[in-house]
Amino acid sequence: MNPNSQLLRQIPKIDDLLRREEITAAAQSYSHTVVVESLRETIEALRQAILAGEENISVEPAPLCAQAIALMEEKSAMNLRPVINATGIILHTNLGRARLSDHAVQAIASIAQDYNTLEYNLKKGSRGSRYDHVEELVSKITGAEDAMVVNNNAAAVMLVLSTMAKGKEVIVSRGELVEIGGAFRVPDIMAQSGGALVEVGTTNKTHPSDYTKAITENTGALLKVHTSNFKIMGFMEEVSLAEMVEIGHNAGLPVLYDLGSGALIRLEDYGILDEPNVQDSVKAGADIISFSGDKLMGGPQAGIIIGKKQYIDAMKKNPLTRAFRIDKLTLAALEATLRDYLEPAQAMATIPTLQMIAATPETLRPKAEKLLALLEENPQGYTVELCEDVGQIGGGSVPTQMIPSIVIALKTTEISLDTLEQRLRKAPLPIIARISKERMLFDVRTINEKQFPYINEILRKNCVK
Ligand SMILES: *Cc1c(COP(=O)(O)O)cnc(C)c1O
Repeated sequence: MNPNSQLLRQIPKIDDLLRREEITAAAQSYSHTVVVESLRETIEALRQAILAGEENISVEPAPLCAQAIALMEEKSAMNLRPVINATGIILHTNLGRARLSDHAVQAIASIAQDYNTLEYNLKKGSRGSRYDHVEELVSKITGAEDAMVVNNNAAAVMLVLSTMAKGKEVIVSRGELVEIGGAFRVPDIMAQSGGALVEVGTTNKTHPSDYTKAITENTGALLKVHTSNFKIMGFMEEVSLAEMVEIGHNAGLPVLYDLGSGALIRLEDYGILDEPNVQDSVKAGADIISFSGDKLMGGPQAGIIIGKKQYIDAMKKNPLTRAFRIDKLTLAALEATLRDYLEPAQAMATIPTLQMIAATPETLRPKAEKLLALLEENPQGYTVELCEDVGQIGGGSVPTQMIPSIVIALKTTEISLDTLEQRLRKAPLPIIARISKERMLFDVRTINEKQFPYINEILRKNCVK
């Protein structure tokens, strides 16, 4: 006979637990469904443990209630919630890409809580267009004739091709047939849009004559795709945007440019090379350019399309525009972010992505020293030191460039780093950090200084057995 069968009869009844003080107190904070479900699951787990013949099982109500209350907390937490990004990757795709500016956050909150002018023209007192709110700003900042926005750059590329290349051939270099991730591949998007892809050149070399030779009466456009997330080095040659514009315009064809990241400031000044900026691409004469809102621009997820008015007008009439339309909260954040770009110095001061890009080991060192000092006050089960390391921009942007950073390197003395990593993920505000060479690294570039006391508290509690 199972030695635990006695215990089965001693399992507390849910109704009895519901009357206990700690549970009636918890019921103030959690819904009745969550309370009952959590108690039921806790009791069921206990029953399974008894049946499995586990040792040292307690059927005491107090620890069972504590367990159930922890479960209530877990069930009530939002699935989509904030985390601390200690990886040093500024545009971490899995962690939501760009952190928004305070202006953008305030704009979202105010629009979310009230009725608003999404499609209402206050001056005329009649119906307006949701695109009007940002078009002029985008044109002013980029120097483009006209602009529109959709919900991400993948949608933007799809809309551009479906409007300008349907039933026609589009010439693309083999060196630019990019996969962005999440099944976004240039050849597939082309097929979906109804355009016919004409590949020219080779993986590493494409010459101007490759384009001229491929132009026929069926050609609809030339397409350039920025190779955001990889780099071909060594024996390579690509045709510049300016050269493509010359070739295209000589043949009466528009030149389209999927710019990817869409940097609106010159990143060379901050040590980021090879990333074309939007304004230069407009000046080079591209007819249509598209880029992301939440990569190097540092705004919300959006796809921004700029270029010649006649083409933008045609895109606005494309039924896909309705399917790809941007929502009011995104639009609010986008407008607030763009307004900061009217004054580049203002953008550098207020947009977190730009601030993090501009941070240098010299400016990060004093920040790291503050965290180090906190952690050294009362270490529990760990040792810490300040180290130089390298971070990345991320988000499939400037992949080959590592940016020098300053990290706190933590070694555990009582538990394994894997255990710590799991515990940090389960913390009330989860901390995502990187393990390298038997140390856990906290890159201060992507950590908000306000979160240092919290990180200190969590590490002191969680590095001990
Ligand atoms: C990132 C990227 C895209 C996709 O943009 P999303 O805003 O993520 O949809 C498309 N093309 C290029 C070249 C990119 O770098």
